[in-house]
Amino acid sequence: MSKKSYEERWGPHSHCVICGNAIPEGEKYCSEICKTKYEENLKNARRQQKISYFFIAAMGVLLVVMFLLSFLLGQ
Ligand SMILES: [Zn+2]
Repeated sequence: MSKKSYEERWGPHSHCVICGNAIPEGEKYCSEICKTKYEENLKNARRQQKISYFFIAAMGVLLVVMFLLSFLLGQ
C-alpha cells in the first residue's frame, strides 16, 4: 500500500509519538500508557540536561581552582 492511498483511506491524521500508531490529527499519544511513557522520557531528558549543566559548572570551578593553584604555587 503506497503512502498516498494510506492518506486517502485514513484522512489527515497524526502518529503516536511513542509507538507510531495512527491517531486523530492534533493528538500526541494513542493511550494513557504512551502519554505516561512520553512524560517519563521528558523527565529523563530534563534530568540529563541538569547533569550536563552540573558537569559544565564543575569544569568551570576546576579551571578556576587550577588557575588559582598555579598562581599561588608560582609565587
Ligand atoms: Zn502509542
